[in-house]
Amino acid sequence: MTYVVTENCIKCKYMDCVEVCPVDCFYEGDNMLIIHPDECIDCGVCEPECPAEAIKPDTEPGLEKWLKLNADFAKSWPNITIKRDSPPDAKEWDGVADKFEQHFSPNPGEGD
Ligand code: SF4
Ligand code: SF4
Repeated sequence: MTYVVTENCIKCKYMDCVEVCPVDCFYEGDNMLIIHPDECIDCGVCEPECPAEAIKPDTEPGLEKWLKLNADFAKSWPNITIKRDSPPDAKEWDGVADKFEQHFSPNPGEGD
């Protein structure tokens, strides 16, 4: 089992999650973060910290696509352990539909 970051993180990227993870297993893309499934110890601490409610346990049904995306991009995106400012328009993107289709970026973020 692992926790996964899902669609609502895209363009929200509040980054509250990175500060609480005891094993530093968040990785940064251009406009979202993901969790490395092989490094996550399933502690669940990050889930309630996400203002966008984008972090879910992979035991929830229907998250296969997101588990694969987290696993795939954990190989190439840089590790992130420090919280930076979220995008100025993060609130406006919270809850917007179809963010993956329209706004997902495969590009890596800055990392630490
Ligand atoms: S707190 Fe939530 S929205 Fe923010 S970066 Fe982490 S997963 Fe994404
Ligand atoms: S569940 Fe725990 S180990 Fe996994 S990403 Fe969240 S804080 Fe890190």
